[in-house]
Amino acid sequence: MKKYNQLDKAKKAKKMWAKENKHLKKYRRNGRTADEIVKMQSLFFYSDGDMICKKCGYDNVDSLCIEHIENNGFEERKKTGSGPNFFRWLRRNNFPEGYQILCRNCNWLKHLEHNDKKKRWYS
Ligand SMILES: [Zn+2]
Repeated sequence: MKKYNQLDKAKKAKKMWAKENKHLKKYRRNGRTADEIVKMQSLFFYSDGDMICKKCGYDNVDSLCIEHIENNGFEERKKTGSGPNFFRWLRRNNFPEGYQILCRNCNWLKHLEHNDKKKRWYS
């Protein structure tokens, strides 16, 4: 049996993305920049192609962000950079595990809950 590893997953994601090239064209048509395309690709991968918030299903890509499940985003950013650099870092590293898609609302709420040490909906 073939070992299922992170690289396979990334390859699958790239294939999936190629299939969804219509998306890409649509975003290009709307005047998206190369940086935004990388972001779309990351969103696409981490949501298994749905491009929606994991918590509430919100689907406006401009309000979606990639968030570190373990809440160590601050530490991470030192390593990965932020904004466009972060998305390029993800792609360069074959979309490592440990991230999820949240909208800005849910991301903020998670942040608040984390600070309160009240673990509710998130794992
Ligand atoms: Zn949400």
